[in-house]
Amino acid sequence: MQLTILGRYSPYPPPGGACPSYLVQTEGVSLLLDCGSGAVSRLQKFTAINRLKYVVLSHLHGDHCSDMSVLRYAADLDVRHQEDPAPIRVFAPGEPRDEYARLTYKEAIRAEVVTEKDQLELGPFEVRFAITDHPMLCHAVSVRTAEHTIVYSGDTAYSDELTRFARDADVLLAECSLPEDHAGFRGHMTALDCARMAERAGVGRLLLTHFWPRADVDAMVCTARGSCTGVPVEAAEEGRTYRLT
Ligand SMILES: [Zn+2]
Repeated sequence: MQLTILGRYSPYPPPGGACPSYLVQTEGVSLLLDCGSGAVSRLQKFTAINRLKYVVLSHLHGDHCSDMSVLRYAADLDVRHQEDPAPIRVFAPGEPRDEYARLTYKEAIRAEVVTEKDQLELGPFEVRFAITDHPMLCHAVSVRTAEHTIVYSGDTAYSDELTRFARDADVLLAECSLPEDHAGFRGHMTALDCARMAERAGVGRLLLTHFWPRADVDAMVCTARGSCTGVPVEAAEEGRTYRLT
């Protein structure tokens, strides 16, 4: 399994950057985790649109799903050129209802509501969900193959429940939005929160993401490394592919 960082910034992209979007691939199957601003452009560096089978949206805040409004056009045009025109399947929370209702598009994109009770078998991926601590209904997402597990925090404040959900993951991709003096603000995490979650969950590796455009990313990595000595910590790097071995 491999993980490619398409975008890591929130709530808007800085010059040349993109909002949260992560491409997970194995055995030639591609699954997109979130689809923020800039994702569709970056996605095509790593896969053709007509080879994208699945999109899983943690929640429907614009920074995590705004490029769905252009992926629909790309999918529609690509579908017309496929011999087997299957729609891209999109899995998302069902609310806000007006946002959810916009996801399905012609024969190109078919949205399906998921809840924390669902466990999906999507080709080689087993996908599970947990509700996070965020002002809008949001899911953390676990993507598992026979060999490896990636847990993506979605947007969340620190929570023990989510820590249990992330237990023993090979990679925890954790949102790291806040400076330490804003701990708990609007359902987001600081670097210390991410480190605490990673260490308590016993994950193999912590990747920090979801940075504010003006964040001091190096300082956040330093802070997390300083309090989380048992787990390697890095900032997720846009355009980089992390291979799980
Ligand atoms: Zn959000």
